[in-house]
Amino acid sequence: MAFSRRITNLKESGTLKVLDRVKELQARGVDIIQLDVGEPDMKTPQNIIEAAERALEAGFTHYTPTAGIPELRAAIALKLRSENRIEALPVNVIVTPGSKQALFYSIMALVDEGDEVLVPTPAWPSYMEMVTVSGGRAITVPSKDGFAIDIEGLKEAVSPRTRMIILNSPNNPSGHVSSPDEIRGVADLAADRGIMVLADEIYERLIYEGSHLSIGSLDGMADRVITVNGFSKAYAMTGWRLGYAAAPREVASAINKLQQHSASSPTSFVQKAALEALNPETPVQPMVEEFRRRREYICSALQEMGPFRFAKPAGAFYIFPDVTQTGMSGGELSALLLDGGVSTTPGESFGGFSDNIRISYANSMEKLMEATKRIRRALGEKKLI
Ligand code: PLP
Repeated sequence: MAFSRRITNLKESGTLKVLDRVKELQARGVDIIQLDVGEPDMKTPQNIIEAAERALEAGFTHYTPTAGIPELRAAIALKLRSENRIEALPVNVIVTPGSKQALFYSIMALVDEGDEVLVPTPAWPSYMEMVTVSGGRAITVPSKDGFAIDIEGLKEAVSPRTRMIILNSPNNPSGHVSSPDEIRGVADLAADRGIMVLADEIYERLIYEGSHLSIGSLDGMADRVITVNGFSKAYAMTGWRLGYAAAPREVASAINKLQQHSASSPTSFVQKAALEALNPETPVQPMVEEFRRRREYICSALQEMGPFRFAKPAGAFYIFPDVTQTGMSGGELSALLLDGGVSTTPGESFGGFSDNIRISYANSMEKLMEATKRIRRALGEKKLI
């Protein structure tokens, strides 16, 4: 079969490849504790489930306006204004089936064949692949110590073809939360060189130290930033598929055009559920506290073992240790741990970090305890600790 160039150039998702392998092993009855997952294991809060049930019962099961139902667009705009200090109006907001779709539309709307997109790394692999599909080139710029964005490195990477910078704080896979200085550094560069910023803020609620600063809230950035967020991580709603982009009006129209000719609209009753999620009564804090507890546990356990080097992550639910002290690459260690019954993701997938692995602590405390036992055993058997 002759495939399009677009597909031929596209890499398979490294994270989903691990997941496929894990599912295959589990189907054969092998007991694997999954620390490769990128989703909260908690149940979606009850008030959200009930809002969806009410919408279904009321027959809210048809097409909606392509950009999303007006009341949800208004609620998202209000959230962005009050919590993020981003001057968004409903017309700036396009609701999409997952934030992944919002990122994809944004890149497709702005990046042309041959354009360059700067991606500070380590980074979620889909950014690079989305840029490839658009015909553009992802230029990766590795972070400095502690995973801070290398602003000087970004400056050096700018060329006349640079169209966009992708910013992801809190970061997947490192859990790094960018400081105000980093955010300002990116904003100044974007403004100086006339570059758009795509800010993926999907983990904004999951912060344990420091606080979140939206680049779209900085002076003069309103016309330069597309802010993407969604309901998957903050409300344990990964399977519901709902996200959004808040963009300058013309960009929002372009994004909406792409949605009109692909998804048509996000799912009707899920939009009603998302509206309920934004209700301040939705219990988000207990989930954040639970992740904080798990972070403390897993960080101490890994530190005690010895060969993992990492900065304690301030956000999201990942740790991205350097594993060179085991004498193995991230890929080798990940394979060893999988044989020992624990799945992790090799760092190679996140922009070539072959010395690292990503460990997700989005799993129950009980499973995390068992997983650390297994990791210790696997390393012990190889005399690595
Ligand atoms: N952005 C980042 C950094 C992610 O890690 C993920 C999911 O893992 C997404 C976006 C996609 O989220 P959604 O479920 O809203 O499509």
